[in-house]
Amino acid sequence: MSASTLLREVFGFDAFRPGQEEIVAAVAAGRNTLAIMPTGGGKSLCFQLPALCRDGVTVVISPLIALMRDQVRALRATGVSAGALTSGNTEDETDAVWQALEAGDLKLLYMAPERLASGGAERMLRRIGVSLIAVDEAHCVSQWGHDFRPDYLRIGALRRALDVPLAAFTATADAETRAEIVEKLFDGTPPETFLRGFDRPNIHLAFQAKDRPRQQILTFAEARRGLSGIVYCGTRAKTETLAQALREEGHPAVAYHGGMQPDDRRQVEHRFATEDGLIVVATVAFGMGVDKPDIRWVAHADLPKSIEAYYQEIGRAGRDGAAAETLTLFGAEDIRLRRSQIDEGLAPPERRMADHGRLNALLGLTEALSCRRQTLLQYFGEEAQPCGHCDLCDTPPETFNGTTPVRMALSAILRTGSSYGSGHLIDILLGIQTDKVAARGHHDLPTFGVGKDYDRRQWQAIFRQMMGHDLIRPDPERRGGLFMTDAARPILKGEAQITLRRDTIRTAKSDRAPAR
Ligand code: ADP
Ligand code: ZN
Repeated sequence: MSASTLLREVFGFDAFRPGQEEIVAAVAAGRNTLAIMPTGGGKSLCFQLPALCRDGVTVVISPLIALMRDQVRALRATGVSAGALTSGNTEDETDAVWQALEAGDLKLLYMAPERLASGGAERMLRRIGVSLIAVDEAHCVSQWGHDFRPDYLRIGALRRALDVPLAAFTATADAETRAEIVEKLFDGTPPETFLRGFDRPNIHLAFQAKDRPRQQILTFAEARRGLSGIVYCGTRAKTETLAQALREEGHPAVAYHGGMQPDDRRQVEHRFATEDGLIVVATVAFGMGVDKPDIRWVAHADLPKSIEAYYQEIGRAGRDGAAAETLTLFGAEDIRLRRSQIDEGLAPPERRMADHGRLNALLGLTEALSCRRQTLLQYFGEEAQPCGHCDLCDTPPETFNGTTPVRMALSAILRTGSSYGSGHLIDILLGIQTDKVAARGHHDLPTFGVGKDYDRRQWQAIFRQMMGHDLIRPDPERRGGLFMTDAARPILKGEAQITLRRDTIRTAKSDRAPAR
């Protein structure tokens, strides 16, 4: 299986995080590596995934027993054969690990460094066919750091004895520590080293709530006429219609998606690489092999799947280091779609919960109140200052205390049995007598007409932000009827306040009931 297939099918992630792909490739190819990544950046995947690509066992040296147990549990839950030999094991656990090792079907063996001190360890590891040593928290080898673990000094000898590649990971980037790691773990021969910040400062970041989405994309493209760009769409059909719309405006634009013939796709890739100023309107299928340095802009006509996918897709712009711009559109429908894809997917409950959490992180980025880049980099574990090069640094959003309207909306949801979408709920809040309102008797609710201080467009923005803050979710069991999450309870009870953005793109004119 290829690395990206393993990423998807075993780990359930749709894209690599910054840096992961290159590190995984080097480790899987059996090169000695040292990777420096911030805490929370996703280091474990960089040895777990290669372990599955290689024959034999990957030995993982890690200083924290609790962490090892967590990782072993998580790996087993996804069907990967992993075990740990630590002082915290019961006898049964240790026996089970041994059996798996003897049977030759263990892929990852976690070990505390202290284990290496016992004479038998090296002999045992020789016998079981180790193909890779991964060292987590490699800075523990540094005598000058405060995490020094004497037994880490045995790892160098183990590597020599087993004569296998070693991959070292740490979040500590200072030069002395790095030099010491190279000295102690690699006998002074520098391994392939990965150390780079995740920031791509030449890329301007911007998001807009969908208002008139096609026009928003056309306007963005118009301002960049003649420059190469990519427009990512959520569906194949949309790539075709949007490419058509761009052509009608006189742009050279072509569609690209996985449903096209391989020859046609190759032709688009070739044209994009060689022609100046072509726009490719594509699904996420476009990008793997795209290595064009001067892509000047990337737009998302629909919300990407995750922050990782977002980062990868915008990251295709401006590889030459020159200025590049991005625009990502998002709307309530995107949020609904993503939630229901997770809810209706076949993933086990634990993974679904993690997926909802990751979606929340993405929505936090879309509804951010201050610097996008800071929010983005923090998600990857990197601290940053406000960047001065994103839409929110350019124009800080206007905010308002949204507690009262949010409570009104929650109350409308609760009083109607959590069975309706935002359209009907907004009708109730605005006091509009539609047939549906009349048929359900909803004009008799105390909530009927309490929300007239806001117009329909503002209410739509409020509902979208409520979804973005995960205060409400569509219920897959009730045809997408919105229900209140636990996160909303303190607001409903008056124990917490919430700040919302006024949507900056357009101010609403008069409200009118939608045509039915
Ligand atoms: P650290 O670098 O601190 O060891 P971890 O390996 O524990 O970080 O990863 C941090 C979090 O990021 C974990 O919750 C993990 O599931 C998640 N993660 C790692 N790689 C990806 C990815 N490619 N896509 C989405 N989430 C990821
Ligand atoms: Zn910024």
